[in-house]
Amino acid sequence: MSSVLHRNLNLNLPMAVRGEGVYLYDAAGKEYLDASGGAAVSCLGHGHPDMVDALCDQIRSLEFAHTSYFTSRPAEDLAEKLISLAPEGFGRGKAAFVGSGSEANEVAMKLARQYHVERNDHKRHRFMARRMSYHGNSIGALGAGGHTQRRAIYEPMLIDNLLISSCYYYREGRPGESEQDYCTRLLDEFVQTIEAAGPETIAALMVEPISGATLGSLAAVPGYFKGIRAICDQYGILLIADEVMCGMGRCGDYFVSAQEGITPDIITIAKGLGAGYQPIGAAMASEKVISALYDGSGMLSNGHTYMGHSVACAAAKSVLDIMERNDLLGNVRRLGAELEAKLRTAFGDHPHVGDIRGRGLFWTLELVENRETKQPFPVEKNIAGRIKHVAQQNGLICYPSQGCINGEAGDHVLVAPPFISTSDHLTELVDKLQTSMDGVLSSFA
Ligand code: PLP
Repeated sequence: MSSVLHRNLNLNLPMAVRGEGVYLYDAAGKEYLDASGGAAVSCLGHGHPDMVDALCDQIRSLEFAHTSYFTSRPAEDLAEKLISLAPEGFGRGKAAFVGSGSEANEVAMKLARQYHVERNDHKRHRFMARRMSYHGNSIGALGAGGHTQRRAIYEPMLIDNLLISSCYYYREGRPGESEQDYCTRLLDEFVQTIEAAGPETIAALMVEPISGATLGSLAAVPGYFKGIRAICDQYGILLIADEVMCGMGRCGDYFVSAQEGITPDIITIAKGLGAGYQPIGAAMASEKVISALYDGSGMLSNGHTYMGHSVACAAAKSVLDIMERNDLLGNVRRLGAELEAKLRTAFGDHPHVGDIRGRGLFWTLELVENRETKQPFPVEKNIAGRIKHVAQQNGLICYPSQGCINGEAGDHVLVAPPFISTSDHLTELVDKLQTSMDGVLSSFA
């Protein structure tokens, strides 16, 4: 019986004891291909020797110095590097380092509010986001997002956010509606929601440039983000890009915002930033936001004890160095194309796979009871949960979820393999996924 408070009190989880490359091992010696890194965390795989060296070197020289007294080399180097990789408009920006994606979004929300206050615009306090978005489980970030199941019992404690539609053409495009018309409809809805709420009350819109946990590596239709950016500018609303899951190379570039041709005002990252070697997230503020602070109080009105932690920052900088030295972005693009081809070959005609979508090494199969009507499986069949269980028994760690349709029905399986994978690992991933899905879905044939 575990003494750790896990999410499911009744599950008897195997004990993970070792990781090497793309594999994890439990105490019984069973091997698991880690094809999702939990939720898109382990981009370098496990036990990377250069990471071990970087961590040991840093902990020997300096483990921690509080950020109200000192800056540190690892934090400076990491911030400088991230800013140099960020989209245009971040040139004289800055990065704050915290412990997770949720905290990064808390910092982003506070920064957005502070930006307006510094400019004497005290009314702007509301946050907008998209339905079925997920921005973290802390109360602020949970309140900003639209994840209905995770919000449910905390609803009375959450901030008064404003939700607009997600960009989900496969499900929400109308019959005969082109992607372009769908995009126009969503942008009109955004404008109407702003107008109805009172633009002068809105601080920021928070969006995942590619939706992850809830909608499964779902990219927007062309032109959507440029339209969103223009509307935010028109109404003086800040744009926060939550790249916690999709960023840091997962989709083939360090920032999906750059792929979409936009400069957000604030970008948040985590997961692949520390690659699982250290818990770390960052809120990156553009020049525009930092200028408002310089022109105003000259302070970031926020702080956490472990901000800018030296070992976490050294780990993240080492992740970026390893990525560069080994051209891992190139790997993501090459392997991503291969993974897409393998998934389409294996599942393109599958009677229960309605949509195959993704970018880079971030791919999802959306499962349906009926391909023609896109009818999802009944919630009580718990298809995602069963696939997760069977896949783990088959030695595959993937990331199935339920609830992509309004937080209730709708199952999908997401994979996010490490950037150090080989073609053989991708073959093993697809084979094991096929066996696991067939094991669960064959009874519905
Ligand atoms: N934002 C996005 C897009 C996420 O996918 C997640 C986690 O899945 C978070 C924020 C929260 O990150 P964390 O779990 O590190 O707090």
